[in-house]
Amino acid sequence: MSDTCDLRVVFLGSGSGGNAVAVTDGNTTVLIDCGFSAREVARRMALAGLDAGSVDAILLTHEHSDHLRGVEVFARRHGCEVLATTGTRRAAGLDAMDACVVGIAAGSEVRVKTLSVLPFRVSHDAAEPVGYRVTAPSGMCFGLATDTGVLTHEAAEGLAGVDLLGLESNHDLKMLESGPYPGFLKRRILSRDGHLSNPDAADALEALVSNRLKRVIAVHRSDTNNTASLARRGLVARLAAIGLELPVDVAPQSAQLDCEPPQRSLFTE
Ligand SMILES: [Zn+2]
Ligand SMILES: [Zn+2]
Repeated sequence: MSDTCDLRVVFLGSGSGGNAVAVTDGNTTVLIDCGFSAREVARRMALAGLDAGSVDAILLTHEHSDHLRGVEVFARRHGCEVLATTGTRRAAGLDAMDACVVGIAAGSEVRVKTLSVLPFRVSHDAAEPVGYRVTAPSGMCFGLATDTGVLTHEAAEGLAGVDLLGLESNHDLKMLESGPYPGFLKRRILSRDGHLSNPDAADALEALVSNRLKRVIAVHRSDTNNTASLARRGLVARLAAIGLELPVDVAPQSAQLDCEPPQRSLFTE
């Protein structure tokens, strides 16, 4: 297995205000979601030294607007394809959009030029939501599970052995319970089709740890019902409890987080 570090992952922004992640091996670039305006995604890419014109495909997780907002304009302006499950395609009205849409199915790996892309089923109140595992030619891979109420069996399989993990850590349970959201929304967030809490994320991380995992990024953190330090602390504490020390960061909503996995695993052998 090559340890060559050829996969760069840039979280362009994460949370209910918009989501987009750029993944590139230098030859192929994909965006996972395009939840800001096309202009804003291009601006954030440029700040990270990435060219919006180099994007080959946008991989959609689901149809909620914080993941979809700029997709049509971005795809048209930069001439890239949009990959989506049938359910997302219908719910998002992608067929009415002036964009080249490619159908994908959870569990079926597809290629986008040099990258292998595996969509896997997640559990969320959307038509046919998925997470993604993206693998570079070297074997280095990135996995993302966001907007999911539970870590599904398929997600656990899809994320097994990733080098870099983006994992939802949406809310602190006490902050959500005592916070301002109406009851129906709290119940929705807490449901199996909602979002992973900080302790849920810690459980998921413990289930996903492998000797390949090099770095963990908490994503889709709620501004209202969580803090970055609580989200990070929950994951760091769980890793420590099982004798591991790995870099853990929280992807911000309004700034980029640039990740190149370290060359060698920090896993305690
Ligand atoms: Zn979302
Ligand atoms: Zn959602």
